Amino acid sequence: MTGSLFIITAASGTGKTSLVKQLLATTNDLTVSVSHTTRTPRPGEIDGHHYHFTDVDNFVTAVAENKFLEHAEVFGNYYGTSERSVRTQLEAGVDVILEIDWQGALQVKKIFNDATMVFILPPSLSTLRQRLSTRGQDTVEVIEQRLAGAVNEMAQYVNSDYVIINDSFEVALTELKAIIVADRQTLSRQQQRYHRTITNLLNNKAED
Ligand code: 5GP
Repeated sequence: MTGSLFIITAASGTGKTSLVKQLLATTNDLTVSVSHTTRTPRPGEIDGHHYHFTDVDNFVTAVAENKFLEHAEVFGNYYGTSERSVRTQLEAGVDVILEIDWQGALQVKKIFNDATMVFILPPSLSTLRQRLSTRGQDTVEVIEQRLAGAVNEMAQYVNSDYVIINDSFEVALTELKAIIVADRQTLSRQQQRYHRTITNLLNNKAED
């Protein structure tokens, strides 16, 4: 059985990383792809866990060798998703989440037509500013740069399949989980998962 691909996009500071972390803690057969980036690690970020931190030369080489399913420049740094790692997980029947920006999301949608794109919006710009500041991981200049970019990023919500407003964390988490759960009950996925059961049902056969 092949897994499904979910793309989760949001302006920086919208809370998508916390939502995805909590979602993974409570959902089986679901993983998040670890991206490659040329960005400097933030305090507490672990190489290979939060990101694969790399330098520009290695990143450019990986792009030339077509190692990335998608890649983009965001706020002056490069980010990319390893194609092999995503395909390996999907082929193993695991659902994969890509936490990527809108440029990468649109690239992935072209390759995986049936990928589900979820856009997470903050309830207001002031909430976004507050979340970026209290995160305490970025300088004032970086926060201002990210707020300015947020409006451009958010305008891309029209390209998504689902939109979640992250006002209450618990409500947003329930909504995100509902999207994953619903996808697992679609006809094509249930035909794969319950092939034998459905065949027996339709052939009027007792279970063996
Ligand atoms: P941050 O530096 O705050 O971790 O991420 C900045 C932005 O880059 C976020 O919007 C995040 O979703 C996006 N991003 C992270 N990894 C990737 C990736 O592999 N590809 C693309 N296109 N964007 C990414």
